[in-house]
Amino acid sequence: MLTGIHFLLTYQCTYECDHCFVYSSPEAQGTFTLEKLQNIYRELPKIGSIEWIYFEGGEPFLYYQLMLKGIEIACDMGFKTGIVTNGYWSTSEEDAKLWLKPLKDLNVADLSISNDQYHYDDVKINPAYFAYNAAEKLGIPTGTICIEKPVVNSEKDDTQEKGKPIIGGNTRFRGRAVDKLTSDLPKRHWKEFTECPHEELIDPERIHIDAFGNVHICQGIIIGNAWKTPLSEIVKNFNPDEHPVLKYLIKGGPALLAEKYGIKSDESYIEECHLCYLTRLSLLEKFPDHLAPKQVYGIN
Ligand code: SF4
Repeated sequence: MLTGIHFLLTYQCTYECDHCFVYSSPEAQGTFTLEKLQNIYRELPKIGSIEWIYFEGGEPFLYYQLMLKGIEIACDMGFKTGIVTNGYWSTSEEDAKLWLKPLKDLNVADLSISNDQYHYDDVKINPAYFAYNAAEKLGIPTGTICIEKPVVNSEKDDTQEKGKPIIGGNTRFRGRAVDKLTSDLPKRHWKEFTECPHEELIDPERIHIDAFGNVHICQGIIIGNAWKTPLSEIVKNFNPDEHPVLKYLIKGGPALLAEKYGIKSDESYIEECHLCYLTRLSLLEKFPDHLAPKQVYGIN
C-alpha cells in the first residue's frame, strides 16, 4: 500500500557525489514551487493511504523556506514528515540548532543525514556531524545515511566459489555511479540478474515526485506525470503490466528487460541496477514518458 510521498524538492545540491542516483549538482535544474507542492497536497486525501511526506533532493535545505512551508502543510494535514539532507548548512552545533529548531517545532519525525566518504572523505568533524549532534540535543529523531564505496571482498565464500565476485559496500550502480565507479569492478553475466532486489515495483510503499511532475517508482522509471494527470488518478490507475519497462522488470528482472529490448548476449555487469540502468539509458528515446527526466540519466 502506498504510504509515502517523497518530494524531490530540487535536483540541485551543494555536492556532485560520484554515487548520486539522480546526477544532482549545483547546476541541476528542477525545483518545486509552493503552488506545485500544493497541487500534490490537494491530491493526497483522494489517495487516502498516505502517512508520510519526505523532503529530499538534491539538497532540500537549499530551499529552506519552501521546505519549511511544505512541512507545515503536511503537519496541518496530519502527515508525519521526514527530511534527507547532507547537512551542508551546519557550520557548528550551536548554529545547526538555528536551522533545526523550526523543524522540531513542526514535529519532524525523521531527519536522515548523509555522512560518508562520498560527502566528506574521511573528515569526521564535518557539517553532518554537527547537524546530527544538534538534532539529537533538540530531540528530533535522527539517523545517518552512510553509503560505503564499493570494494571487492577478498574472503572466499560459497558465492565466490561459484565464480561470482562479491562487491562489498552498499553503493548502487545507477545514475552517476555508473559513469564514475564501475571501471575496475568485477562483472557477471547479464543473465544472472533476474529480479530487482531493492524496490517494490508491483505495490510500492513510496513514490518520488520531482518538480517536472514526474512520478518515480525507482529513480528515472516514471509511472505518470502529475502536471498532466492528477496524482490520485495515476496511483489509482497504476498497472505495471501496461508499463513497457516495469512489466519486464517484474517478470524477470533487468535480465528480461535487456533480453526483450535486444541487449548483446556477451555483456557483463556489476549488479542488477547496473544492467537495469544501462538498459533503460538505451531506451530513453523509445519511452520518453516512462523513462525521465533525461538529466537523471546524465543527459542535459
Ligand atoms: S534493479 Fe532497476 S528498478 Fe530495481 S532498484 Fe535497481 S535500478 Fe531500480
